[in-house]
Amino acid sequence: MASGVQELNARGLSDFLTAYNNTGPCSAGVLACITGIAGETPALHRSRFLLRVLGVCAVFFATSIAVSARDAAGLLDIVITPNDGMPAMGLPGAEFEVLTTAQAELSIEANGATHALTPQWSDALGGRKHALCTIPADAAPGLYALRARGADREDVNLRSVCVCGAFPETYTVAHITDTHIGSNRNARTSEDIFTELIQKVNATQAAFVLVTGDLTESGEPEQFKHFLDILNTCTLPTFVCSGNHDRKELNYERTFGPDSYVFWFGKDGYLFFDTKDFYVAEDLGPQAADIERQRRALKSARWSIGASHRYEADMGMRTQLALFIDDPLDWFIFGHWHRENTAQEKSVPWAAPDGATRITVTPAAINGAMRLFEIGPAGIVPGEVQTVVKVK
Ligand SMILES: [Zn+2]
Repeated sequence: MASGVQELNARGLSDFLTAYNNTGPCSAGVLACITGIAGETPALHRSRFLLRVLGVCAVFFATSIAVSARDAAGLLDIVITPNDGMPAMGLPGAEFEVLTTAQAELSIEANGATHALTPQWSDALGGRKHALCTIPADAAPGLYALRARGADREDVNLRSVCVCGAFPETYTVAHITDTHIGSNRNARTSEDIFTELIQKVNATQAAFVLVTGDLTESGEPEQFKHFLDILNTCTLPTFVCSGNHDRKELNYERTFGPDSYVFWFGKDGYLFFDTKDFYVAEDLGPQAADIERQRRALKSARWSIGASHRYEADMGMRTQLALFIDDPLDWFIFGHWHRENTAQEKSVPWAAPDGATRITVTPAAINGAMRLFEIGPAGIVPGEVQTVVKVK
């Protein structure tokens, strides 16, 4: 486990926030993200509600957005969320929220077409700003870059807004995990393997991709930059979380923002969280508090699906109470094991012998693996593991 994690658990929340404030504009923005979300509830609910009511989605995706992204080092700059690891998805006319470090002119753009946004601005905690935006009614389905034009500079986040055509009752989701960018575990480089894996994912009919941590080998900024560059060759929306290998300082947060979040796809709710809080009796940290609220926000979902890097029965008990005991998720998707789960390993243990929350573990992307799920009225059906990239 990286030292940053232990520091985070050992220090109190206020120390953690102070440390955030002292690490420069980008990470200060992330602070606003983590603390500010609790204050976003009504607007967040409104946009989730609209996305849900509006309905049903066959998604087409634009590619080749010729713009530079983020700041020079690939870190979050003016726009904190949405971003290419946590995009906004909705139909034309749906609302979505943008969290920024400063008020800015906002637009979305794809394939040379630019749509100006007309946000309603409000203050967020930590001096940050919320922009409640509406997807332009004439925006064609596809993945858009989000551009923020501030007083002194511009910030472009690729693949940050997905305009959906509809939300189908039955759809496919791709799962990849443990890309370990920067490792030398196989004859081929981790970058080559991930690049080819994304090509294979692009060739599927998946609506979006879950990428559940150990994105990098050791959480170095240049590893995150390489991961991002390859992630941005994906033609589908990509939702990421961190893994134990990504925990160096706050490099994950500087690259992707909050460590827990929810999103909706039609009637289904997805909850991403970080399993860094691995202690049995951990503090009520910011994520544990967020997860209580986020789980409640998903109560009306047809299916509630959790995604994180890893699972062990003795980790993060507050999180487990919220997600697997009080109000069990229907399904939980993760990695870390670098193998698939066996027939016996089919649920979390809290409602033995056939626990309420079913689990699926996909083997590591660094070893060429991915998995597709079919999600529809009858349930969540994990497909067979597909080893689609030769790694030697
Ligand atoms: Zn791993």
